[in-house]
Amino acid sequence: MLAVGAVVPLLLVGLAALWEVWGAKQQQLNEAMEQQTELAAVVFERWLDTQRQPLLTLAAMAGEQAPDPAQLRNYMRIMAAPRSHWIDIRIVNERGESVFSYPADAEGFPHGLTENLLAALQHGAAVETDWTRGEGRYALALAVPVASGGAVIARVDGIVLQELFRDLQLPDRALITLFDSRRRIIYRSQSPESFLGSVLSGSTLLTALGDQRMAVMVVKSPLDNVERVYGVARVGTTEYIMTVGVPSATLYGPTQRQLARLAGFGLLALFCAVTAALLISRGIARPLDRLSLAARAFGEGNLAARAPVEGPPRLAQLGADFNAMAEHIMEREKRLNELDRLKSEFVSNASHELRTPLTTIKALTRLLLRSGLDEAKQREYLETIAVECDRQIDLVLNLLDLSRIEAGAFELSLGRVDTAEVMLSSLKSQSRAADFRRHKLELKAIAELPAIRADQKALRRVISNLIENAIKYTPDGGHITLAARAVGDEVEVSVTDNGRGIPPQDIPVLFDKFHRGRPAPVAGDGALAAALPELEEVPGIGLGLYLARNVMEQMGGRISVESEVGRGSAFTLHLPVWDDRDGQRSMREEDRHGQTIARS
Ligand code: ADP
Repeated sequence: MLAVGAVVPLLLVGLAALWEVWGAKQQQLNEAMEQQTELAAVVFERWLDTQRQPLLTLAAMAGEQAPDPAQLRNYMRIMAAPRSHWIDIRIVNERGESVFSYPADAEGFPHGLTENLLAALQHGAAVETDWTRGEGRYALALAVPVASGGAVIARVDGIVLQELFRDLQLPDRALITLFDSRRRIIYRSQSPESFLGSVLSGSTLLTALGDQRMAVMVVKSPLDNVERVYGVARVGTTEYIMTVGVPSATLYGPTQRQLARLAGFGLLALFCAVTAALLISRGIARPLDRLSLAARAFGEGNLAARAPVEGPPRLAQLGADFNAMAEHIMEREKRLNELDRLKSEFVSNASHELRTPLTTIKALTRLLLRSGLDEAKQREYLETIAVECDRQIDLVLNLLDLSRIEAGAFELSLGRVDTAEVMLSSLKSQSRAADFRRHKLELKAIAELPAIRADQKALRRVISNLIENAIKYTPDGGHITLAARAVGDEVEVSVTDNGRGIPPQDIPVLFDKFHRGRPAPVAGDGALAAALPELEEVPGIGLGLYLARNVMEQMGGRISVESEVGRGSAFTLHLPVWDDRDGQRSMREEDRHGQTIARS
């Protein structure tokens, strides 16, 4: 719309400019026509003057007191001799009677000619056309006044005009026409034989001139029906009219064609521009529409809606960016949904985990309250109650750690930790549970281990948790190994079991908050499936590994896992070896801390 809206005024301005150019050019051409016509008129006027010159001399002689007839005749003869076109010369008195004529036997003037000339002399130079010679021939009769009255008149054959205008340099196809005072054609440069003598008194060509000396007009010739641009001019003081006409097509044609070409090019350029604008706008509009549709659908909840990656590069880029954003949002939405699911699972698991030991404790307490139990039984019950209490405490500690991590307030106190000691105490805390499941719990290669930099309590809980997992996720009667070795600046503490293993797709999310693996059915391998009959749901809340990773990261270490479904898993803690400079550094830090407290 914008392109079309811009085109209309542009078109109008362009046309107005062309029209102005055409007007200026036309005026230039018309002025050239005026000059040509003026030139032709001057040529004829000069010719009339040169013809009159000898007549004026004769008139002067005739006007003397007592002119010598012999002398006059002699002069007339001398005058006529070189002028072959002169038909005759005559001296007439004021009544129009011929006094002298040359040649002596010259026929009389046609009726009225002398009278007309004498009358015309009153107004200035007199020239008349004499058509009495017949056969389309005519003579021009020129008269000059004699001082004592009367006039000298000479008749010149009209054929002389053919020669006069022959050499005139005029534009191609220019038509020169000369009209006498009665608007008869006395000269026409093209096919004179057909038109000589024609009277055009009513033609617009001559009437439109009016009283003006000169005019230019476009008229269709009544004689040959050709439309011409005519320059029309009066010849001096005579009533004769000179016209020079050039066909409009010849005069205006080239300019008109040039301007038409210009207009054509302009229109073509405009058309191309509008078409290009329309194509471009369509090329932009369509992908934009589809992009907006996709955005709307996406906004309404269809997270699978995608924009087309098409159109000009920037638009295509916009589509690609939109799709990337949609992908990102969809991923996040999936993660949030998953987290929601995990959270609700977590709530139910946590309640279950809290309730089970409480129920056990309650039942055992009731039993203990009854009298009659032997001491061994009492001790066994009390020990079980203590174990269940530890489980409860562990659970609550885990929940507290989670909330500290979430709040960014989870802090550890790092120090020198004896690796073997922490491993032993962790193992001890789980030995009863391992016995209960008839697992063989083995401690390997802990002699001569370097000390590590860690938070002892937190590390013990991490190792205990890994052993607890190994116990939980290994079928009864399994084999669990707790081992350690020094590797460069690190000590690697590993817990290996021959339990159910972890499916490869779970490994990347294993340490995520609330993640709990499902017992995977062992497909294909019949022997393996038979070896793992009881893959039932194991109690848990999906926090152990999450906390383990956080603790390890805070201690400047890391945790890794290797596992194979049906064969077992190995979790390894990579811990930094204790450096004595660590001790000095931590002492300095403690000092600083103490001073700050003292100051405050
Ligand atoms: P929980 O044991 O309470 O489910 P954890 O964060 O300790 O939570 O463990 C997350 C998941 O990792 C477990 O649900 C289990 O699927 C898997 N897992 C952890 N340790 C082992 C192991 N030793 N063998 C097999 N699977 C394990």
